[in-house]
Amino acid sequence: MEKKDILSLSPGEIEEELIALGEKKFRGKQLYEWLHKKRVVSFSECTNLSAALISKLDERYFINRLTIKRKLVSAIDGTTKYLYEFSDGEKAETVMMSYNHGNSLCISTQVGCKMGCSFCASTKAGFVRNLLPSEMLLQIYESERDSGKKVESLVLMGIGEPLDNYDNVLKFLGILSSPEGTNLSLRHVSLSTCGLVEKIYDLAELKLGLTLSVSLHAPTDEKRSAIMPVNKRYGTAELIEACKYYFEKTGRRISFEFALISGVNDNAETAKELIRLLKPISPCHVNLIPVNEIKEGPYRKSENVKSFCSMLIKGGINATVRRTLGADISAACGQLRRDNI
Ligand code: SAH
Repeated sequence: MEKKDILSLSPGEIEEELIALGEKKFRGKQLYEWLHKKRVVSFSECTNLSAALISKLDERYFINRLTIKRKLVSAIDGTTKYLYEFSDGEKAETVMMSYNHGNSLCISTQVGCKMGCSFCASTKAGFVRNLLPSEMLLQIYESERDSGKKVESLVLMGIGEPLDNYDNVLKFLGILSSPEGTNLSLRHVSLSTCGLVEKIYDLAELKLGLTLSVSLHAPTDEKRSAIMPVNKRYGTAELIEACKYYFEKTGRRISFEFALISGVNDNAETAKELIRLLKPISPCHVNLIPVNEIKEGPYRKSENVKSFCSMLIKGGINATVRRTLGADISAACGQLRRDNI
């Protein structure tokens, strides 16, 4: 019998499984708390479960785990970047950042990525596989354990396209926010997407309260398709329409990511085009960052970040320059995995 990944099961599923094993309903809740609150690594640690039940669990399920393959700590601000290895040897990155308002964790949702954005290191070696709900949870559990810090907000902005692993990501979010487990409110979660339009509509219907962060990086089809292949499938007009729908349906403002690349998307004309594109869905927010220079790419950081930001604000668009943390360890997103494949 192939063992099931118990950390990927929702509270309801665990309850059903235990009832099928002849146990009372409340045992499901007890087991769930052991797994997600106390975060045991073996069933034998669950001291209020009978030896008979523990042996049944051992026969049918496994408790997934990951290991720290590498860890880089910033000497400037303590930002910690983990390279985690999953049980099959695949790897992904997680970053723990501390802000004035608390600790934020950035997790990966896939090993590699299919999206092919030309400035992004995560996609250069292609796509390997989706991460399981348990593998997303374990990035949080292990980072909290190792750092001694509690994650107060979460961003799905590491390696991978979360909406391309939609079912597992939703399952993960359900487990993460369940009161019997970590109980993190989804209002403290941001999900970043390159713009898979159909899935944005699906997500809007669920009204989960999470912030949708859209990686825009260019305001016209011509400019966006040149750096983001996904734009050939879903053009900017279609994407903005979906964002508008998300905002109307959920009441949550959209946050747009815009990485400024010297000579590519950082001039006054681009700022004007961006204002024109976003005006119809204001209030929204634009997060500006100078592009992270990666080994595989020709792109250089823009020097115009501040002036670009002022142009947007003058044009009536809410914009800020994102504070850079961990500058000394910021092998750009995906770079650490690329160097350790
Ligand atoms: N696939 C999702 C989430 C992962 S990427 C997405 O596209 O949103 C997380 C963010 O980092 C995205 O906004 C992405 O565009 C951005 N990013 C990737 N490579 C970058 C680089 N070299 N410099 C700056 N931002 C980058």
